[in-house]
Amino acid sequence: NPLNSAEYVLAAHLPRQLPPDGGREVAFAGRSNAGKSSALNAMAGHNKLARTSKTPGRTQQLVYFRVRPERWLVDLPGYGYAKVPPDLRAHWQSFINGYFRDREALVGLVVVMDVRHPLREFDQQMLAYAHARALPAHCILTKADKLSRGAQQSTLLQVRRQLQADYGEHVTAQLFSSSSKLGVDELRSVVAGWLDL
Ligand code: GDP
Repeated sequence: NPLNSAEYVLAAHLPRQLPPDGGREVAFAGRSNAGKSSALNAMAGHNKLARTSKTPGRTQQLVYFRVRPERWLVDLPGYGYAKVPPDLRAHWQSFINGYFRDREALVGLVVVMDVRHPLREFDQQMLAYAHARALPAHCILTKADKLSRGAQQSTLLQVRRQLQADYGEHVTAQLFSSSSKLGVDELRSVVAGWLDL
């Protein structure tokens, strides 16, 4: 597992706190509670790489994990359906917007979605940011274990159809489960490929 060496390096809540813009990095986005921390941990094969506990202050930070020199995983802040205070939302918007616009090291985006609630407004916004600069994106439909095999497959097909219509070939999708480890190898190989590992 080429991502097993990932380790926490820093958390940034302002653009100037980001590491120098060099090398390659893959960003992970998802609404809070989608299962992003669990997915990062499963992918890296760590139990506690990304915190699965909810620490309120961290929800506005970009968290950097180094896989090897100049190769990074970036955990983007997400938010949920709970109402976000307007000033916090505005800060988040401009930080994330600037990150997607300016970050040259960014080579791909993973969007983590609960298989039961795919392609919500937040997810669409992330995909639109990636699309705006022709960045490839990969959607993981996590918590697949919560649905029957048949329901998993039909959701996957529906999501793929929608992505194809909206973004063409730039965006792919797969099923995932941190609990059963479904799709872990598939996610790893997409991310390792983007990072050129
Ligand atoms: P985050 O807020 O997106 O980082 O989400 P977490 O990774 O903290 O997960 C949110 C909740 O969903 C936690 O209670 C996890 O145990 C649960 N969860 C995450 N992934 C899975 C999964 O694949 N299957 C199931 N059944 N539960 C999951």
